[in-house]
Amino acid sequence: MGTTSGEEKVALITGGSRGIGAALCIAFAKVGYRIAFNYMSRHTRAEEVEHQVKRYTDCLAIQADVSCSAEVEAMISSVKRRFGRIDVLVNNAGVMANSVFTLIPEEDWDRVIAVHLKGTYLCSKFVSLLMIEQRYGVIINMASISAFRPLVGQSNYAAAKAGIVTLTKSLAKELGRWNIRVNCIAPGYVQTELMDTFKSQEDKQMLRQIPLRRIGTPEDIADLALFLASDKSRYITGETIRIDGGLSI
Ligand code: NAD
Repeated sequence: MGTTSGEEKVALITGGSRGIGAALCIAFAKVGYRIAFNYMSRHTRAEEVEHQVKRYTDCLAIQADVSCSAEVEAMISSVKRRFGRIDVLVNNAGVMANSVFTLIPEEDWDRVIAVHLKGTYLCSKFVSLLMIEQRYGVIINMASISAFRPLVGQSNYAAAKAGIVTLTKSLAKELGRWNIRVNCIAPGYVQTELMDTFKSQEDKQMLRQIPLRRIGTPEDIADLALFLASDKSRYITGETIRIDGGLSI
């Protein structure tokens, strides 16, 4: 897969224990990446993903909070110890705490910004130091169409995701000279536990707004991430690609 040592590439995926992150782990494993993934607290769910990934490749699951600098630094060190390199980082971990703006508890505001924006900053910072040494790397950030078309009650989430879109451009400009590409994925509705917060009554209304008339699957997102990680996207950097079945047209 093109590393200088001839070994398989290594992908680190945050929030890999379920939803889009779990699909990313399995999709990258299937095409031959060695996988490191991080999870927050659900050890059993992480073990299930680890088990599935190990059917294809080597896997390291690490418990860490992406918004905590010390935990992120320790996580990157253990990936480096185990695999020696990181070729692809996917900043996927995320949380939602929806509320109308005036009623958002301050701790919910801080937590949502911390997991998405600070988490993306911290993981990218420690991984890019390693990628600069390697003179190679791909960073993929997970935004949302909420960054461009926020729903009512998601101002914290939308602000964090809009920050990630612009952070992607800044990193692409700064890191390009080291052969590091940085891109962003902006999904619409994707069927995961994060989506369970929406009520089924709203689902039908939602479906009518999507030209392709279906909610996305985690595998739809994983296929785009594989493209952005691969050499087929070698001249794309700083870009945010919407993947929403046409919802935001
Ligand atoms: P999910 O809730 O199913 O999974 C989120 C993952 O993030 C979990 O593995 C969780 O453990 C992890 N996580 C949460 N806080 C963490 C922390 N502090 N440190 C480390 N890990 C943490 O969500 P999902 O739907 O799979 O979403 C994945 C990403 O895609 C998120 O960034 C989300 O904002 C984005 N996204 C999702 C949708 C959707 O419709 N599902 C749409 C647009 C964007």
